[in-house]
Amino acid sequence: MNQPTHDRNDDLFAHAREVIPGGVNSPVRAYGSVGGAPRFLASATGPYVTDAAGTSYVDLVASWGPALLGHAHPEVVAAVQDAASRGLSFGAPTEAEVDLATVISERVVAPGEGAEVRRPVERVRLVSTGTEATMTAIRLARGYTGRDLLVKFAGHYHGHSDGLLAAAGSGVATLALPGSAGVPAPIAAQTLVLPYNDLDAVREVFAVHGDKIAGVIVEAAAANMGVVAPDAGYNAALADITHEHGALLILDEVLTGFRVHPAGYWGLQQEAGEIYTPDIFAFGKVVGGGMPLAALGGRADVMDSLAPLGPVYQAGTLSGNPLSVAAGLATLRLATPEVYARVDAAASAVSTALSGALAMEGIAHAVPRAGSLFGVVFADEAPRRYAEALEQESWRYPAFFHAMLDSGVSLPPSVFEAWFLTAAHDDDALARVLAALPRAARAAAE
Ligand code: PLP
Repeated sequence: MNQPTHDRNDDLFAHAREVIPGGVNSPVRAYGSVGGAPRFLASATGPYVTDAAGTSYVDLVASWGPALLGHAHPEVVAAVQDAASRGLSFGAPTEAEVDLATVISERVVAPGEGAEVRRPVERVRLVSTGTEATMTAIRLARGYTGRDLLVKFAGHYHGHSDGLLAAAGSGVATLALPGSAGVPAPIAAQTLVLPYNDLDAVREVFAVHGDKIAGVIVEAAAANMGVVAPDAGYNAALADITHEHGALLILDEVLTGFRVHPAGYWGLQQEAGEIYTPDIFAFGKVVGGGMPLAALGGRADVMDSLAPLGPVYQAGTLSGNPLSVAAGLATLRLATPEVYARVDAAASAVSTALSGALAMEGIAHAVPRAGSLFGVVFADEAPRRYAEALEQESWRYPAFFHAMLDSGVSLPPSVFEAWFLTAAHDDDALARVLAALPRAARAAAE
């Protein structure tokens, strides 16, 4: 399983850097924080990916979340092929996109008064990426409230639109960037960045700017600075504070939605007894089943402010693309409670073994979880906010990562990213991961 010192991945990376900035189409893929040539993937099936040199790995990236069922699930692929045979893109409404909007709306349920069930996602607009979903959500919050300021939390990643890159997680954290060049200062100044899991900070900013704040955007559970679940009651308190001040709560479920619970992470919190109602939700990843598709949804009166009914503009040549819609519909149909139970069990097996292996080597660590999402932190305690996440011994991760890769397990190439299990991670795949961990822990100890 040992990777040869030089193979086709190295050749491709060298060539890629001549024609693509940094050789990649999304920064974290470049292996910048772990070193070496990224694996150029040629195919993927179930829990495995195969690179351009023909080496297979158990995959714990899952395309950064979408592959809930595993890669290339036969029924999802068949649904896409079937849709493709009827046309790749129409730029017109389709019956299938109405079905997908309906499924999303029906799955996100909230208990109401008595036996009544409420649907906080009354309207759904389909877009192509999570970035578009959150970008449109904040424009909508601004258009609806007539206010400009937005509150976000340090270390939360909501995609790469201008106003959301301030102190962002994911690749921005991996590359240790404060934000991004190219964002004009007046635009950055419209985003107020607060520490996560600190309600006093939220109350203070609302006390000063309350009548100018359009909304608060929050990851349902932070998973782009490592996995940092919200404190109990935190998201519900955010809903209360925003609503007291006439602002909107935007719950970013691009990563968590339909990944950790059939009704999104929010659904998980409802099961735990924490009931609150965001005004706008952003979905992505799993709703597109591995194809380019994301969505925003929410209260009818807010969502109906979007064009063509209202004054807030959003559009897309490929919005509601029939292939993406087919993949999303097939994935959500197959994403039964049993699927989530399998993913949870696989996540428990790997996270427990990971912690055990690091403990054997005496390495200070934590393995924080939010549902089936988890990550590794090289510190005594799991962080509750971004500044703490940055303080860990992240220098241990490259050796750990490469030892896993050499043993045939592909991890996210950054300590700040979550590990993703799928329903396709069977006993064989899990056994390979568990067998690789002790050696990787030894490498991280050196
Ligand atoms: N929001 C969250 C919470 C995410 O994790 C991501 C991507 O990882 C996005 C938004 C952006 O989605 P996309 O990469 O599809 O633009």
